[in-house]
Amino acid sequence: MIGLISATAAGAAARDRLAAAWPERTRLYGGPVADAVRAAFAECEQVVCFLATGAVVRLVAPLLGGKASDPGVVCVDEAGRFAVSLVGGHGGGANELAREVGGLLGARPVVTTATDAVDVPGLDTLGLPVEGAVAAVSRALLDGTPVALDREVTWPLPALPVADTHTYTHTRTGTGTGTGTGTGGYAIRVTDRDVVPGEDEVLLRPPTLVVGVGASRGVPAEEVLELVGDALRDAGLSAASVAALATVDAKAGEPGVVAAAERLGVPLVTYSAAQLARVEVPNPSAAPLAAVGTPSVAEAAALLGGGELLVPKRKSAARPAGATCAVVRRPGRGRLALVGLGPGARDLLTPRAKAELRRASVLVGLDQYVAQIRDLLRPGTRILESGLGAEEERARTAVAEARAGHAVALIGSGDAGVYAMASPALAEASDDIDVVGVPGVTAALAAGAVLGAPLGHDHASISLSDLHTPWEVIERRVRAAAEADLVVTFYNPRSRGRDWQLPRALAILAEHRAPTTPVGVVRNASRPDESSQLTTLAEVDAAAVDMMTVVTVGNTATRRIAGRMVTPRGYRWQDTRQEEETR
Ligand code: SAH
Repeated sequence: MIGLISATAAGAAARDRLAAAWPERTRLYGGPVADAVRAAFAECEQVVCFLATGAVVRLVAPLLGGKASDPGVVCVDEAGRFAVSLVGGHGGGANELAREVGGLLGARPVVTTATDAVDVPGLDTLGLPVEGAVAAVSRALLDGTPVALDREVTWPLPALPVADTHTYTHTRTGTGTGTGTGTGGYAIRVTDRDVVPGEDEVLLRPPTLVVGVGASRGVPAEEVLELVGDALRDAGLSAASVAALATVDAKAGEPGVVAAAERLGVPLVTYSAAQLARVEVPNPSAAPLAAVGTPSVAEAAALLGGGELLVPKRKSAARPAGATCAVVRRPGRGRLALVGLGPGARDLLTPRAKAELRRASVLVGLDQYVAQIRDLLRPGTRILESGLGAEEERARTAVAEARAGHAVALIGSGDAGVYAMASPALAEASDDIDVVGVPGVTAALAAGAVLGAPLGHDHASISLSDLHTPWEVIERRVRAAAEADLVVTFYNPRSRGRDWQLPRALAILAEHRAPTTPVGVVRNASRPDESSQLTTLAEVDAAAVDMMTVVTVGNTATRRIAGRMVTPRGYRWQDTRQEEETR
């Protein structure tokens, strides 16, 4: 039983929501709060107090007996923002209760015990079918008990606090059934084989299998399903790992095939006869060539996306056979997330970036950026950090890890695609990996927000680093921006070894803009030591600029208004608004 105690109207409202949701599990304790807590503590396995933690600490302190016997106590604050696991996190189940209560009330569960702070993704949240001892293995992960990870097939899993045994038996076609990984103890096994989970084992079923199907007109769904079922069983493969049925376009509406895909709960993918005819197969034949224009349907459709043919073409048992099938194992595709961390402040790191950091099992980045987000990573994340200047190596490493089937996050400050790692990485990457881009707040935007609204009209960013770009090219672009009257933000404006480029670039702009043109200099935007200066083209002090800085130069319309840098939207803007208003 869960005892519920509240003192205020807001607390009572939240309490009543819990009571309504769990009528069988909860009991209200009214009257003076101290008495209510004492009674609930004595009578219930768990207690939820809609009170400040301080108040509850004072009330339960004299009642505490020991970890094994105390009820689990959860506090929910007045505003319903947090569900705090206060006492009995494990033994009393308060950690779990805090999560449940949080889920129900929209409050954030606060759990401070060590093993729960390990922050492990639920095995049922990995997006893959799971079988076996889910509860026991989850518990082991939470408790820090060693769990082995046996990956028979590659799949880009998030980081898990496990001992990775890297089996990678791609070539094992797998026959018959077996149990256990032989390691003893707790294990997570990533497999598409038809094995029975061991006592302390969880099976994760990645969708690696593609079943190619050929069919005569009018074939019954049962015949297709029996054929597919037999093929998987004989090859020792699990139906839970079937990703799709594949066939030729001409059979896209064949009722027996459509129904079979539906019953297996997988999509039906179709290809044109011409596409299929180009696939090299071990068992071509004349019949489908005559009927649909390709010498192979089942094998070709299964093999078209690449992979290893585990079951060559076989026919259904009916005479004449109405269906053929073939099974291919596709290599798991690795995942490369290109994640921009924003300019520095934690609250300018997007929730999506955070989610991708937690989705990854391998993190690649510059050491100083890794330090910035290390606390967000899941335990078990493999961190591959390197120093300044190792860009190409980082790009290559990230791509190689993704190609090995891992979930990789390649990080960069600001936006990962702006003067950062995304382009060198994608220049290396082939189409055998999935790529996910997460935009970040780039320095020009962070600085713009500090300065006012300097980017209110057309603007350009220009990097003044001539390490990889010849100075003539940079100068040509600065000149073009000057002539086009674009607001310009200079990245990489000045370093110890590169001190003449910024004055030179400013001089070019000055040929086209008044000496009074506003210039914003922002250093460490959004970081603790942020500083900014609003000055003019005539007065800007290039010597005060370094590599932590961006310099934004206004266009001919940019003004300083109330100490802020403002680029108007254009002359016609206000006229148009007036027109709209009078319409
Ligand atoms: N990908 C980054 C840019 C990398 S180039 C982004 O999108 O912001 C590095 C340059 O960015 C630095 O030399 C500096 O000019 C600028 N920069 C990055 N972060 C900054 C910050 N917080 N404040 C000011 N300038 C910054």
